[in-house]
Order: sequence, then C-alpha cells, then structure tokens
Amino acid sequence: MWETFAMSNLPDRLHTGVPQYLEERFAARAAGMQASEIRSLFAVASRPEIVSLAGGMPNLSALPMEMMASVVHNLIATNGAEALQYGSGQGHPKLREQICEVMALEGIQANPDDVIVTTGSQQALDLISRIFIDPGDVVLVEAPSYVGALGTFHQYEAQVVHVALDDQGLIPEALRQAITSVRATGRKIKFLYLIPNYQNPTGVLLPADRRTEILDICRTEQIFIVEDNPYGLLGFDRPSPNAMRAEDSENVIYLGSFSKTIAAGLRVGWTLVPPSLKEKLVIASEASILCPSNFTQLTISSYLADQPWRDQITSFCELYKVRRDAMLESLEQYFPASATWTKPGGGFYVWVNLPPEIDTKVMVPKAIVAKVAYVPGTAFYADGFGTWAMRLSYCHPTPERIREGVKALGGVIKQEIARRSSGFEIIE
Ligand code: PMP
Repeated sequence: MWETFAMSNLPDRLHTGVPQYLEERFAARAAGMQASEIRSLFAVASRPEIVSLAGGMPNLSALPMEMMASVVHNLIATNGAEALQYGSGQGHPKLREQICEVMALEGIQANPDDVIVTTGSQQALDLISRIFIDPGDVVLVEAPSYVGALGTFHQYEAQVVHVALDDQGLIPEALRQAITSVRATGRKIKFLYLIPNYQNPTGVLLPADRRTEILDICRTEQIFIVEDNPYGLLGFDRPSPNAMRAEDSENVIYLGSFSKTIAAGLRVGWTLVPPSLKEKLVIASEASILCPSNFTQLTISSYLADQPWRDQITSFCELYKVRRDAMLESLEQYFPASATWTKPGGGFYVWVNLPPEIDTKVMVPKAIVAKVAYVPGTAFYADGFGTWAMRLSYCHPTPERIREGVKALGGVIKQEIARRSSGFEIIE
C-alpha cells in the first residue's frame, strides 16, 4: 500500500533538464542554486485532497479584501502617477518613516535614513550575503534554521556552522563554543544569523536575558548579528521581548517584513542597518532591482496611514492562535508518546522530534498516501542533520483540517514505529 506513492513521484530537483553544453557555461556559483526540499514538496502538498502542514503561507482569510481593494483604488485614483513610476533605490521616504513607527512597537528607535526597503526580507538576506560572504566564509546559524536563508548562504558559497538551540532559542554557551572552534581552524566568521521571535522552523522565542548575553558575546567577538524578525508582532499570549536591535544599533542588522502582518504578495520588507552600511546595501539593491515597487510600497503606506492596522494584526493573531491550539491539542491526542514537540507562543510553526530510528524524509510518501504533508527536518539543516524531526505549520488549514491532518500523520508515525520494531510492513 505504502509503495503506491514512491519518493520518485515527487518532482525531482536534480533533473533540471539543462543540456550539458549549457551547464558547462554556468558560473561555478550556479552549482549552489538548487531547489529546496520544501519547494519540491509544494506541488504535491497543494493538491486539494491533502492537508498541508508543510508550507508557511500566511492565512489571508482575516484580511478584508474590500478594504484592500479600496486602498488600491484610492491610491491609483489620487496618486497613480507616483505609484506607477520608478522610485528611490532606498525606498519611499514616507514608508520608511512609517516603518520606524512599526519597529517602535518592539522597542526600536530608528532613523528613517537608516531603513532600506527591500522586496520582502528575502531580498535583504540576499543583499547582506552578497556584501559579506566570500566563498568559504563561515556564517553562524541556529540549528535548525529558515530554509530560505540557508539556500541564500549556500548560493554565496558560505560554510554554515550550526549553533544549537533549545526551547528557549539559541544557547549562548553553544555560541561561545562555536566561535572558539571555528576560529581555531583559521576561518572567518562573517555574521550570526538568527530569528529570535517564534523561530522558523521551531516556533521558539529567545528570552530577554539570552538576547542580552548573545549581544554581549557578539560585540566582544566583533561578529555582526543579522536579526530576522518577520513574526515578532505575531505573539498570541503576550508581546515578545524588545528586538535585539533595540539594545544595539551598531552591531545588529535588522530585517523586517510586512509579509506576515499585512500581505506577502505585496513583497515589501526592509532592513535597518548601521549608518556605515547603508550605501553599500542601497548600491547592491539598485543593481538587482533598481528600486522597490512604488506601487506596493505606497499601497502599504496608505494602508498604514488610513486603516486600523494594529487591530488587523490582532485579528491575524486570533486566527493563528485557534489553529495553534488545534494543532497542540491534536498532537497530544494522536501522536505517539515517544514524540516531543515545541509549544510556540506565536508565529506559524511547531517542531516535532520523533524517535531517532524514524527517517522523516523516507516517510513523506507514506504521509502523502495518508493525505497529509509536512516538511522533513533535514530541510532546515545545512548538513543533513534532523532526519528524525519534522516541521508542522498550522497557519493555513482550518482547525478541523489541522486535526484531520495530525490524526492521519500520527497514524503514519505509529505504523512506522511498529514496522521498525517488528521488522514487518503493515499492509492496510
Ligand atoms: N525570514 C524568515 C524567518 C521567514 O520565515 C521568511 C518567509 N517565510 C522570510 C524571511 C522571507 O519573507 P519575505 O521575503 O516574504 O519577507
């Protein structure tokens, strides 16, 4: 029964169909341009009969579309000539001011001059990598971490060195040890990349005291921190601690995004940088996009100026909280006692650890047959680690579908555990 859906049914990322004569002309760095495991899974997970606990797509059902339509309509009617024109490479000045108001919610006092608007925070990751990373340079990254950041670091030929986290986020002592052991090999550490709030993929939150300790370590060791914070305002139970950038404006590059608090399709994010870095980032950004879209920047700017955006974030939090609760309750109910998982206070994700003999990548086809999708843990490590883990997202399906999906997945895992311990395949 399980065999009816083999891993080979998944789109194969290795067979790109590029003829050899063309591949021979590629630059060396093109070798690092490979689709992530998540991408290969998406085509399958998006079939309507499958409960997708795989993707991290924001849930737009709480966003009033008529209101968005009127924002866009008014923008074009009153300021179309500017909205549909090229703009500044650094980003629209009014939006940069408003971004500073948004960041103030997390304790950041910033000057709009130091904000650079990007095409999602993903572009900021690309720009920072382009500016800092030479092939072979070390980037310190939480273990596990965001697959899109790992992909970018890989394309710039960085060596990712993972630093352990626990249910309180990155472990400061593990960071000290990683720095010492990398330096002992003579390699250069370019920055520490971390997601302090409701981390992707684990959902964990870094408490204030660890933030201070990590800032101290990095300042002493002269290592930049890249603080990626797309989920900070999506705390369900209490507000998250102040951003790390609020405590240190010299040594932290901060990345923000409207993808989760307004709409990902607008593709507007930003980076707040120490003043000395601004020019390099703007020049790098101009080389790739000339300027961020005036149309989507001004859409966001009008929305922030005229609509109750704080209440809208509260609505998103309510929507995600119900789904988080449905997932945690059904994990309790349907997953085997040998599984453990994180209990996120916000964001989109739960990280599940299974018994070490389970290989979650091998198990994907079996889950697909049972009509549920998840992302195997190895996607979130640069080194093949995490075979026994999986990321489950609760952001998109309804609570009922989440329960259905977790129940089906629990069944698959229990079968897998039974099969491993008995040595027999259970045929249903
Ligand atoms: N950082 C993290 C941690 C993310 O989870 C994501 C998207 N899932 C991004 C950055 C990129 O987001 P965007 O480009 O939409 O701002």
